[in-house]
Amino acid sequence: MIQGVAASPGVALGPAYVLRPADISVGETRIDPSQVENEIGRLEAAIAEAAAQLEALRKAAGEKEAGEILGAQILMLDDPGLTGAIESAVRDERFSVEWAVQKATEQYAAMLDGLEDEYIRERAADVRDIGRRLIRVLKGLGASGPSLDKPSIVVAQDLTPSETASLDESMVLGIAIDRGSTTCHTAILARAKGIPAVVGAAPVSSGAPTGTTIAIDGTSGTVEIDPSPEAIDRYMAAIEGEKREKARLAATKFLPARTLDDVGIEVSANIGFPGDVPVARGNGAEGVGLFRTEFLFMNRNSPPSEEEQYESYAEALSGMGGRPVVIRTLDIGGDKDIPYLNLPAEMNPFLGWRALRMCLDRPEILRTQLRAIYRASVHGKAKIMFPMVATIEEVRAARDMVAEVTREFDRLGTPYGSGVEVGIMVEIPSAAVMARSLGGAVDFFSIGTNDLTQYTMAVDRTNERVARLYDALHPSVLRLIALVAEGAGANGIWAGMCGELAGDPLATGLLVGLGLTELSVSMPLIPRVKENVRSLTMKTAREIADRVMAMDTAGEIREYLSSTSCARGGK
Ligand code: PEP
Ligand code: MG
Repeated sequence: MIQGVAASPGVALGPAYVLRPADISVGETRIDPSQVENEIGRLEAAIAEAAAQLEALRKAAGEKEAGEILGAQILMLDDPGLTGAIESAVRDERFSVEWAVQKATEQYAAMLDGLEDEYIRERAADVRDIGRRLIRVLKGLGASGPSLDKPSIVVAQDLTPSETASLDESMVLGIAIDRGSTTCHTAILARAKGIPAVVGAAPVSSGAPTGTTIAIDGTSGTVEIDPSPEAIDRYMAAIEGEKREKARLAATKFLPARTLDDVGIEVSANIGFPGDVPVARGNGAEGVGLFRTEFLFMNRNSPPSEEEQYESYAEALSGMGGRPVVIRTLDIGGDKDIPYLNLPAEMNPFLGWRALRMCLDRPEILRTQLRAIYRASVHGKAKIMFPMVATIEEVRAARDMVAEVTREFDRLGTPYGSGVEVGIMVEIPSAAVMARSLGGAVDFFSIGTNDLTQYTMAVDRTNERVARLYDALHPSVLRLIALVAEGAGANGIWAGMCGELAGDPLATGLLVGLGLTELSVSMPLIPRVKENVRSLTMKTAREIADRVMAMDTAGEIREYLSSTSCARGGK
């Protein structure tokens, strides 16, 4: 039994398929000056071939995460910082192109490894992946990835981002790898594809030869090699249980989320791209509670134009067929960087010049975005949401900008939807504490527990060393949530939640009991949260909230919530 890191939930049982990296080792080789041009020609051909392979993979990739990773790699192949370094290693140092690729990609990746930002550090894996792909092409080897002839659990030391992106869900029962963390590419992609995965499970790749029966539990993070017949029975029962839950939820996901005493709670989706809308609707979303527009700004070399943004927002709005779509204005900075915006490096980026703070200082970015949203608002029910609000002055400044845009449209006769609500994310404790007063200046609140927890508990949300302190169910965070619900009630506006806590099935009763009327969650969780809502009465929800608010620790709260019907799928 190996204890690894839980990376993607679900149980899997089956034969191991050990994926060993092909031998692409290259030695240091110098070339004659007369060969330089020939080597550069080989490099250019290899780059073109690698880009074509990645493009084919991207086209075949079903989910947006895989498409994004592969798209980023295609852009990197065009990055003069990388290809220029390879070329000069050939021209100036007279290295063979294979060695130049090996050396330059390793140097570039090592530089990224050394940076603070976790998101950028993850890019090092992409650079190494590209280096390996180029060398495979140069050596005339085929594209990488497993060719499974029967459903198996893929076992490896590590999987490159493109290997994971190209895994076929119908053949891969699960993934168990020696390396990795919950935020590595393999974990993110496995979650997006719905494949159970355990990472950081060394020495699984040497302990489970191809063909050995293994079982993995992606929720507890365990891998069992050659389980006993009794253990196999247990795993099979768990897999059956998961299948039954899936079937039950599939049958009920389009039912409205109304409590037993007929109070409607809007269960909506968090999305990153308009292309997510069909998936959100397929999961029974009653709206989009958070459209993270920053993704439209990533993996490119300049900001999307007003027209491009308009098209994206219009697509999301018409795709939702008149149901609400909360479009959040650009939330960048913190752990999310966009190189072409040239944001300065900061000592404490999460406390720095991010999101609305940056947008108010660079009004051209916000104005373009607001114009695009208002133009698109004729296609559905748009709501605008500003992230990272700390003070009422910021709300006023943002609303001034909204008024400027609508005045201009009125003057020019440009059509826009009537009654576009303007709200804010409550994710900074100062905003939660001041909710009563802020509620007079906005049409709604949406609580961002991911940041609210980080700022309340003073824990960097990306720092694993302090992760044990990061808990959205801590009573201090819950008290702030209660203040927000109260502040909304006092002003007759609605309050919802779009942070990860909204999708925690344990929390549904508590959040409804505290007075939230909208829960926006990651798409696969929608059916379960809707089912939970349907299992509650407002009276039970308020009782749950009352009991929880009298507790002192997150542990006690979690234990109590585990005993409520929400923990048992509404039973
Ligand atoms: C949040 O902070 O809870 C949130 C929903 O926003 P993000 O995770 O994008 O910062
Ligand atoms: Mg946030």
